[in-house]
Amino acid sequence: MNLSTLNFAPAVPIPDHLVGEVQSKLAYVDERIASAQISPAGEQISIDLKQPVAESERSAIEEKVQRVVVSMAKGAIRPKVQVLEDYLDRSTPFVGDPMPELMQRGEIHREADGIYTLGPLLTRLIDWFERRFLDLADSFSAKPYRFPTLIPARYLERVGYFRAFPHSLSFATHLRSDLDQIDAFAEGAACDNHDNLNVPPERFAPIQTLLSPAVCYHLYFTLADQLLPPQGVVATAVGNCFRYESLNLNSLERLWNFTMREVIFVGAKEFVLENRELARQRMQRVFEEIGFAYRVESANDPFFIGEFRKQAAFQSAFQLKYEIRARLPFKDGTLAVGSYNYHQDFFGRHLNIQLPDGSAAHTGCVAFGLERIAFAFLAQFGFDANQWPLSMQEILQ
Ligand code: AMP
Ligand code: ZN
Repeated sequence: MNLSTLNFAPAVPIPDHLVGEVQSKLAYVDERIASAQISPAGEQISIDLKQPVAESERSAIEEKVQRVVVSMAKGAIRPKVQVLEDYLDRSTPFVGDPMPELMQRGEIHREADGIYTLGPLLTRLIDWFERRFLDLADSFSAKPYRFPTLIPARYLERVGYFRAFPHSLSFATHLRSDLDQIDAFAEGAACDNHDNLNVPPERFAPIQTLLSPAVCYHLYFTLADQLLPPQGVVATAVGNCFRYESLNLNSLERLWNFTMREVIFVGAKEFVLENRELARQRMQRVFEEIGFAYRVESANDPFFIGEFRKQAAFQSAFQLKYEIRARLPFKDGTLAVGSYNYHQDFFGRHLNIQLPDGSAAHTGCVAFGLERIAFAFLAQFGFDANQWPLSMQEILQ
């Protein structure tokens, strides 16, 4: 028997709509897991371990996997997927995987899992999309903002982020302000051959700060404990976002450090919902102009195991999230390149953002993943500019 693989049936059936979601959570189950697959129909789980482990340890890993399965799949209700736009079958000229070509051209450089530098082609492509997003922001007279990359732990705590997404947090700290500690660090700091920096944890200051996982939170905190103007607030910002995706970090599709452009609406319920809808219609025209193959459908955030069932059902029932899923022809799949979100009065209540009538403000945002949209574009249109939409060919001149 091969002691570094585990194959077993799930304790409860995994409905096919949850297979991807459960599989992505298996990356966080145990550090000894190298990869985890669930068969498409959800009846078989196979786990590859980084090295052989004793039988008792194998059972312990299996038990943890089953905890995930039961928590996410038991009693799960299939959400009704609502499709608002479906242009997945637009014909596009390219079918290859852009990654090998991007690597070979030196257009991307992988610094570590989920951390890439982008070269001129991707940068110009992103700039092109950014101009479209800024036009969208302008069409709402959105005010521009710049937000920090760091976010206080207290902020994330206040909006329940630790409970909802503990697995993807990225913490920021610094050395304690103590000369002995700093001297000792400067003398001895080195990375071992697993790239781990050999610093005793007690040398670090307590964690008060994280790397920000989203852009719009920063705006909500600037509005906390305030009365909104009657016309509401529309803002736009681009920023670095961090979501640790463990074994799921692969290619430009899933990054630890990525950039997001958001257009953010704060105001009365109708104001937010109407603007979210207008934003969708305006982007529909942009995507049509370039012949992008995608679909807009209802979705849920990747809540962690314990929160998943309840929160995902809630988002689905109230149509809180729609994703723009671009076709990736090389894998016959799709990739979320953006989302249209409505948070009801969640932030308004938790942060005391008030409408003129004293009730809690509603919020919503339109968010685009810049690396992903450029990647999906190359996956559909390839590297030969003659095959690109006319309006984009100037990018390469
Ligand atoms: P969300 O707020 O989760 O809807 O994220 C907005 C957009 O950010 C998504 O539609 C993606 O395009 C992008 N995004 C989210 N997570 C990642 C990631 N790990 N790597 C790259 N892009 C991401
Ligand atoms: Zn947002």
